[in-house]
Amino acid sequence: MLSASPNPIHEQYDRQSRIERGGRRWNQAGIADSRALVCGAGNIGASLAVALVQAGFQHVDVIDLDTVARANLSRGVVWRPSDVGQSKATALAAHLHDLNPEIHTTGIVADLRWDVGTASFRRYDLIFLATHDLSSRRHVNRYTHLYPGRSQAIIEGGIADLSFSLQTILVGETPCYDCGLSPSDKDGDVVVGCNGVASAVELPPAGTNGMDGMAVAALMAKEGALLRAGLEPFFAGRELRFEADLGTTQLLRPSWRRSCSAHLRAPLNQLLEFPYTNRTTVTDLCQAVAAQLGVDCEDVHIFSPLLIVAQLHCDCGQAIPVMRPQQASLRPVCPSCGNADGDRFYSEFVSELLTTSSASSLADYGIPNEQGLEVYVGADRYYLVPPLPAVGGSVDPASV
Ligand SMILES: [Zn+2]
Ligand SMILES: [Zn+2]
Repeated sequence: MLSASPNPIHEQYDRQSRIERGGRRWNQAGIADSRALVCGAGNIGASLAVALVQAGFQHVDVIDLDTVARANLSRGVVWRPSDVGQSKATALAAHLHDLNPEIHTTGIVADLRWDVGTASFRRYDLIFLATHDLSSRRHVNRYTHLYPGRSQAIIEGGIADLSFSLQTILVGETPCYDCGLSPSDKDGDVVVGCNGVASAVELPPAGTNGMDGMAVAALMAKEGALLRAGLEPFFAGRELRFEADLGTTQLLRPSWRRSCSAHLRAPLNQLLEFPYTNRTTVTDLCQAVAAQLGVDCEDVHIFSPLLIVAQLHCDCGQAIPVMRPQQASLRPVCPSCGNADGDRFYSEFVSELLTTSSASSLADYGIPNEQGLEVYVGADRYYLVPPLPAVGGSVDPASV
């Protein structure tokens, strides 16, 4: 007698599919349909991505700029000696693919702030913040809130020494990441030099313990899985803090900060979806937007919300192009005269207003693909974003 053929998917996720919480049953299909973005493939990010794949997430993209160092082998569950020297994002994506060859995963080697368009984050249902620098966390938080799209939650976690914290932010429903920061937290890893150029402070790696990263990663993945399975997460609008020195665990409830501008959300009637890439010329974009709004191109003003292009000038007359503000070293050296005295440089920022009669492409301005732009027509403001792609496709940070 033939037995009914087993359903391998059902079998693979059988244990968690039995979970019920708050009278609701685990919905595995909700997880399978989700798109997750893991920002940072370090200690937390690598373990987190593995946990997501094991929970049944079918689309997990990873962004990181770093390469795997020998010190990473003692932290995170995926790294092998053969990964040392490889880019973390692509090496991690390869391991995820080994775990489940059916999944869609892309390892994106990029700087979150400058290589990834600000309107990319709206493609993802869940955004996991596992980077070690505050400025890229704040950046992702701001633009995930600004552009309505698929984004349901930002799940953030961090470790320091033997302590850890994590929180689940329901986009637009609970206070944002910035709301919970104290003034002294802000821009702690960015300094603005006397030349006006912002640079990331090179901090030595913090002392951390790999096991703490795994603990946080497991909790973050569980929050995401619960949300997408249709169950109540544990830490929505709340932050869990384990303070190792005190031996205490606290559950904080961040409140909305009135002065916070980071959770500003573009009203849907001001959101203009228009198919463009960073190869589109500013003139073509202007004409298309003008036609859609029924106005003249001369009345349309297009801004990039981020200061993209700067140039350093040495007092000998040499100009040094700096495509990203943080690329300017605090101690620039002039390639022409060898001057290394910061006081003898001045910086020039290219206007954030794009010249709408320009045949330059957005990429010529240093703008990555899927960058959200601001459009003004008189006093009316619009937010210009490319349309959300249909199923499939990952962030495409066209090199600039
Ligand atoms: Zn806020
Ligand atoms: Zn010079």
